[in-house]
Amino acid sequence: MESRWKLIRPKYLLIGILITFFITCLISTLPFTTDKCICDDSDRSKRDSTNVPEPLRNLHRLAVLVPFRDRFEELLTFAPHMKRFLHKQNIDYRIFILHQVDRFRFNRASLVNVGFLHVRNEFDYIAMHDVDLLPLNDNLSYGYPDASPLHVSAPDLHPRYHYSTFIGGILLIKREHFIQVNGMSNKYWGWGLEDDEFYVRLKEANLMVRRPQNISTGTQNTFRHIHDKNHRKRDTTKCFNQREVTRKRDRETGLDNVSYKLLEVINVTISDSPLAILNIELLCDKELTPWCECVKTNESKDKKIVGENKKSSL
Ligand code: UDP
Ligand code: MN
Repeated sequence: MESRWKLIRPKYLLIGILITFFITCLISTLPFTTDKCICDDSDRSKRDSTNVPEPLRNLHRLAVLVPFRDRFEELLTFAPHMKRFLHKQNIDYRIFILHQVDRFRFNRASLVNVGFLHVRNEFDYIAMHDVDLLPLNDNLSYGYPDASPLHVSAPDLHPRYHYSTFIGGILLIKREHFIQVNGMSNKYWGWGLEDDEFYVRLKEANLMVRRPQNISTGTQNTFRHIHDKNHRKRDTTKCFNQREVTRKRDRETGLDNVSYKLLEVINVTISDSPLAILNIELLCDKELTPWCECVKTNESKDKKIVGENKKSSL
């Protein structure tokens, strides 16, 4: 009996080994894995946006559009000031310096049109912003002007301009509204009235301009206006029929026909404040607006150049 068992034992052993081998092979082909995640957690945090501070997520983006020529000293103060000011309000913004590099007279409104065309795909609203006007009161909101445009430098707060239809200095407007009124007129070369004409555009489109509410500061301490009128002379010359034309509402020109070349976009940083400088060459249709140049020949001195602009009739 015992010798028989000795004979069959290796056989059973061999069968056992073979069965174990086949079961192991079968298990290894089955499509399940362990529950344990072997992914790298640090990588996951890079993919979602949990490292972006909460208040900066899902907000509207503001393009601060600054018409500019020969105001370098003011810019040196403006750039770090605006960074501090807008950072406190958690505004998602970028500053664009609209640098007019042609030899025509300064054209603030056309520069704003060009700036808008440059930013319109990436920004939801703009601030048309003078470089020499600094907001001092933190309660002046630069938030998204959804319902209607917001005139930040209101007549009862601005240090210099106090008439009720004034909308110059600093104005916030959302993309859709700026497009709705076809931007600003391109006829205003030299100082003044382009903002008054824009006021009429907004009014005709039933976009009533709002003003900051509950501001406890006044005309002397809400803004700093860095403007010495002898050092930075306003170009108030009128030539050809400029006075007459620029007192009327312009239905011919605007965002859809501003004529320009964008020569260069230069990214710079001033005192930790990043800026994009757009070198813009404006083109002038001398048939339509011959006053883009007021050349002081003897004839034009005598006949065409007239004195300082009087009150607007817009
Ligand atoms: N500006 C400029 N260079 C000029 C004229 C005007 O950069 O030669 C810009 C600048 O942003 C300035 C704004 O246009 O703040 C308005 O012009 P200005 O300060 O002369 O007008 P104000 O509101 O003081 O009458
Ligand atoms: Mn000024």
